[in-house]
Amino acid sequence: MERIYLDNSAASRVDAGVLEAMLPYFTAKYGNASSLHMFGAEAKDAMEAARTQAAALINAKPEEIIFTSGGTESDNLAIKGIAAAKCGKGDHIITTNIEHPAVLEPCRYLERLGYKVTYARVGSDGIVDANEVAKAITDKTILISVMHANNEIGTIQPVEEIGKIARERGITFHTDAVQTAGKIPVDVEKLGVSLLSISAHKLHGPKGAGILYVREGTPLEPLLHGGGHENGLRSGTENIPGIVGTGKACEVAKRDLVANAAHMLKLRDRLIGGLLTLDEAHLNGSRERRLPNNANIRFLGIEGEALVLLLGEKGIAASTGSACSSKKLQASHVLLALGLPEWQTHGSLRLTLSKYTTAEEIDRALAEIPPAVARLRAMSPVWKKLKAGEKIGHVKEKGHAHMG
Ligand code: PLP
Repeated sequence: MERIYLDNSAASRVDAGVLEAMLPYFTAKYGNASSLHMFGAEAKDAMEAARTQAAALINAKPEEIIFTSGGTESDNLAIKGIAAAKCGKGDHIITTNIEHPAVLEPCRYLERLGYKVTYARVGSDGIVDANEVAKAITDKTILISVMHANNEIGTIQPVEEIGKIARERGITFHTDAVQTAGKIPVDVEKLGVSLLSISAHKLHGPKGAGILYVREGTPLEPLLHGGGHENGLRSGTENIPGIVGTGKACEVAKRDLVANAAHMLKLRDRLIGGLLTLDEAHLNGSRERRLPNNANIRFLGIEGEALVLLLGEKGIAASTGSACSSKKLQASHVLLALGLPEWQTHGSLRLTLSKYTTAEEIDRALAEIPPAVARLRAMSPVWKKLKAGEKIGHVKEKGHAHMG
């Protein structure tokens, strides 16, 4: 059975050119970029070339690129780094209620230290209102962090608008661009951001590698203290193969961005269009302001996890809108933020495409998903209630169809 990968927002296949660029840095060119000899020099040269490639993707200067271990570290460095740098100047942060945990958890950590955090709410379309962010600003606000696009429902946030507000008010602005870099244009000047996070493995680069863009002049304290690498902002011997792969991934993404986005958009629309013909199937998040590779559909009356398992048996890799934590099914904070009742959040399926996704794969997904949904609904008491026109509310998880 041919496997079909529709979980590209979780991780993406490494591009062949990226792998090829990385390989020599594991074998022949294994020097430490800080060393004075020729091994060190070739590692340093490769790292600086990667910095230039990364900067070009987002219209930054090479010296504004800090290499990190990925999106989580970049988000942590941005948020905690600003909190530490602005210590004594203010204690208020504004973010949204649909951020990735890599942003939400550092914010919660800072709350435990005494900082105050406003979580601006998104509308039922999954988009935050820039005016809500503006209204939350106080004279103690030191940072605004609003993601460029959401990882679950793919909604694109009004970052440019918020950037203007932040600039006018003189507040540092961070955006998590982990899901947008390489998929839609990301331009730090247009967006008006001072800090921007990228993760290489979401754009056909290696895992464990990422970028934090730091606008020149932005005060930032490091998380990792040591040898003073990366302009003193990220100590530790540089991951040269990872950095080379990140740079190459950025170069390839920039080169092919327009064509890849058009390819994914066409397939995504075919997928969404096909799935929405099913009874009680609804799109989560705005249809228009959405990543070209994201389809997130809720099928009422079923459990998304059960659907993912059934599709797995058919060779289709997808994910849900819910996170499984300690074996207890928890409603997704993103879907709850849309104002959906909890029972409706459980039946969501996230399908995320890449430049490698083919029309044949989408057609196979469209052939396999409807019978899987029907099979789960046939054993779902919630679905029976829904069809009988009975009111559903306070439905506990056991009311849904679980596999096994
Ligand atoms: N931010 C967003 C929006 C993400 O989707 C992810 C990963 O899923 C991260 C941050 C974390 O990135 P990484 O896996 O590189 O730590």
